[in-house]
Amino acid sequence: MQTKVIVKVLGTAQDGGVPHPNCSCEHCQLSDHRPELRRLASSLAIILPDLKKWHLVDATPDMREQLTFLKRSHPELGLMDSVLLTHAHIGHYTGLMFLGKEVISTKHLPVYAGQEMQDFLASHAPWKQLVDLQNINLESIWPDEVLVLDNAVKVTPLQVPHRNEYAKTFGFVISGKVKKLLYIPDIDRWEQWDRDLQEISSSVDYCLVDGTFFSEQELTDAGRDYKHIPHPLMSTTMDLLANLVQNSKTKVYFTHFNHTNPAVNPDSDVTAMIRSKGFEIAEEGMEFQLS
Ligand SMILES: [Zn+2]
Ligand SMILES: [Zn+2]
Ligand SMILES: [Zn+2]
Repeated sequence: MQTKVIVKVLGTAQDGGVPHPNCSCEHCQLSDHRPELRRLASSLAIILPDLKKWHLVDATPDMREQLTFLKRSHPELGLMDSVLLTHAHIGHYTGLMFLGKEVISTKHLPVYAGQEMQDFLASHAPWKQLVDLQNINLESIWPDEVLVLDNAVKVTPLQVPHRNEYAKTFGFVISGKVKKLLYIPDIDRWEQWDRDLQEISSSVDYCLVDGTFFSEQELTDAGRDYKHIPHPLMSTTMDLLANLVQNSKTKVYFTHFNHTNPAVNPDSDVTAMIRSKGFEIAEEGMEFQLS
C-alpha cells in the first residue's frame, strides 16, 4: 500500500500576519471584524497520516495556534517529527521558542536548516538554549541535495535570493510518489534567481509562491517605494506564469500575503481578477495530496 502524503497549509500571511500589529488599514480592520479573514504567518505541514507522522515547514510566531488547528483536523497526529526552516526572518523560525522547556520541551527534535542558519541558532540566545539543552538537533540541508523524509516523501532545498542578513534562504520542492509541490514564500526578484521560474514550475503539480505584494500602487499607497521592497509583485509573477497556468496541469497558488495586499479580501476586485486569470489564493486548511 502506498503511504499517503498530504501537504496542509497552516498559514498564508507575511511574517506579521493579518491583522498586522499596529495597523488600522481597511484589511486589518475587516479581518478584526471577520475572524475568518485573519491569516497566520506562512507555514506548511507535510503529513503522513498512515504513519501518524508529520513535518513542519517553518516555525512561525503563530505556531501555538497552528498546532492546535492541525490537531483539530488530524487528531491522529502527535508532536511533529521534524522542522524544516526556509530562513532567518522572524515569521519563519521564531516559533522554535515553543519547543523549549517553558512550553513543549521537545527532546532531540531534528531541525533542518542551512549552515549559516544553524550557526545563527547555535550561537544566539534564546535559540542557543534549545541546542544546548538538546530540545532540538540541528541537521543540515544543502542546496539541491535531496532530503528523504520517511521514505514516502522527499524534499529538495532550492537556494533563493532574499536579503539574507543572517543566513541564506531556501525554497523547497516537496515530492510525494505521485505529485510535487514547489514552496517559495520569500524571494527578492525572480530575475535575480539563477533558476528559471517557468521551467521549475512546469516540473511540479502545485506551486505555492511569494504573494507578499500585489502591485506597485499598493506600496505607494502605504508610503513605500517598490525599488526598496525585495519581493516580486504578484502581477509580475502572473505575467511570467500566465502561459503555464493556461496550458498545463500546474496549479499556481499565492501565499505569504502582506496585510496591504487586496488579495487578502475574498470580495475584492483584485481577487476576482486573479481567479479569472486561473491563479489561486492559498488559504489555511487547504490540503494537497502528493501520494
Ligand atoms: Zn517572510
Ligand atoms: Zn493593515
Ligand atoms: Zn523573509
